Amino acid sequence: AKTSGRDAVRFFDPAMQAVLVVRMMLESNLRVALAQNQFKLYYQVQVDSKGGLIGAEALLRWIHPDRGFISPAEFIPLAEETGLIVPIGYWVLETACAQLKKWEEKQDTRDLTLAVNVSAKQFQQIDFVQKLRGMLERSAINPTRLKIELTESTILDNVDSTTAKMHELRELGIAFSMDDFGTGYSSLAYLQRLPLNQLKIDRSFVRDISDDENDATIVRAIISLGVNLGLNVIAEGVETQAQRSFLIEHDCYAFQGYLFSKPLPLEGFQELLQASRQT
Ligand code: C2E
Ligand code: CA
Ligand code: CA
Ligand code: CA
Repeated sequence: AKTSGRDAVRFFDPAMQAVLVVRMMLESNLRVALAQNQFKLYYQVQVDSKGGLIGAEALLRWIHPDRGFISPAEFIPLAEETGLIVPIGYWVLETACAQLKKWEEKQDTRDLTLAVNVSAKQFQQIDFVQKLRGMLERSAINPTRLKIELTESTILDNVDSTTAKMHELRELGIAFSMDDFGTGYSSLAYLQRLPLNQLKIDRSFVRDISDDENDATIVRAIISLGVNLGLNVIAEGVETQAQRSFLIEHDCYAFQGYLFSKPLPLEGFQELLQASRQT
């Protein structure tokens, strides 16, 4: 019969059970992490072609009391599956707004923008716009300094309701960047309709720009697409001078990557900022 044999064996597969147990532990640890403030934002600088700092991307870190750093690649997928990404994501947005407020109060950091990753599950919450509007009001920041990074799949999954929300948030002043651009399935027709400010070239294309003709072609195409749609274009994962030169040569003038700095805790980011503003 259908339910006997293989399926039954597979269900009791000890290896699989171990995987499930680990997942359950990770899930309950994630809840504790949220309750006990084990998350931290790191900041990775974004620079222009003259090396000027234009802002940062906020990247989430989980600092576990025993296990140390846990990479977002490890816990974000589970946070998404369990829905915990929603409260975690609001914590990220709250923290980002509070930081922007502090930067706004100082002359030399007033113009920085902060990009925040928002996952599909969170953006699709029915009250996302309302919640974010409340946060903006409470923190009293200039909303034009906040940028939301969405992936193509987040936008295209539910294109009508997502576009409507993006329009509402754009009216409040918030900017949008399409993250990991080039890895999904955006069509020109959609791109033209979306209220985006920026395309972010995925680092998988940037990596081999200098020696892979296909990647070079894709990157050139993305840049000219962005330029033609009136969007600014930023490249992520820029690690070498050669990559930077290629990008500048092809009219991409904003960058993020290890060439400039790794993501840093706030203190480190602010030191970098000061050093760059003193020269
Ligand atoms: P992402 O949004 O594509 O973020 C960029 C990732 O590239 C970051 O990894 C960053 O540390 C890494 N990176 C930056 N420059 C370089 C470089 O030059 N070379 C290489 N090889 N890597 C570089 P990270 O911090 O591990 O984050 C991984 C992913 O986790 C992010 O990818 C994003 O999808 C997700 N994530 C991070 N923070 C959040 C968050 O607050 N909310 C949500 N929903 N997702 C987040
Ligand atoms: Ca991102
Ligand atoms: Ca990205
Ligand atoms: Ca990526």
